[in-house]
Amino acid sequence: MKHLDKICEVQSECADGTGRPSVYLTFDDGPDPFFTPQILDVLAQNGVPATFFVIGAYAAEHPDLIQRMIAEGHEVGNHTMSHPDLSKCGLGEVQREVFEANRAIMGACPQASIRYIRAPYGAWSEEVFTASQIAGLAALHWSIDPRDWARPGTDAIVDAVLASVRPGAIVLLHDGCPPDDSGTQAGLRDQTVVALSNLIPALHASGYEIRSLPVHH
Ligand SMILES: [Zn+2]
Repeated sequence: MKHLDKICEVQSECADGTGRPSVYLTFDDGPDPFFTPQILDVLAQNGVPATFFVIGAYAAEHPDLIQRMIAEGHEVGNHTMSHPDLSKCGLGEVQREVFEANRAIMGACPQASIRYIRAPYGAWSEEVFTASQIAGLAALHWSIDPRDWARPGTDAIVDAVLASVRPGAIVLLHDGCPPDDSGTQAGLRDQTVVALSNLIPALHASGYEIRSLPVHH
């Protein structure tokens, strides 16, 4: 069995010549019609880019939000069509989840260039790597998980990121929630919105630059 791997951290390149190390913001489980626009507003106010790993079914429901992400310089990644635990799926179902999500994103915004996939729950398997490779997607995990989805408090989210940040870190946050949690208290992302507005200046104050994911090889 061939071994494929996932990206958990990005080699820092300081591509813009500032000498400041890079950190990367990623948002999973959207787009959400209520919280995603707030996240996009905070990113725009601070002039920083992010990558959104969207659920294909939600992208099809809210194409305007996919279009806004792309128009505002963010990247859209594949987070499957319906957010199953892919480690429990056969290759056929994995491929369907991956391809349908790609199709939904492109249907929402033909200008989108989809480079990365993130498995729901971070549940990677050989089948996921194989399906991703066939779809031309690189597997992107994360290096910092402040568990914002558990709503631990805005300070706890910010502190967890600052305690673990290092050059090339990939931060996992959530602008939406999987179908199972939709419409419940667990699906609220208000803490993530507030935490983000504090986290961005705190990362800048720590000497980091928030950048787009680099071109992978
Ligand atoms: Zn997810």
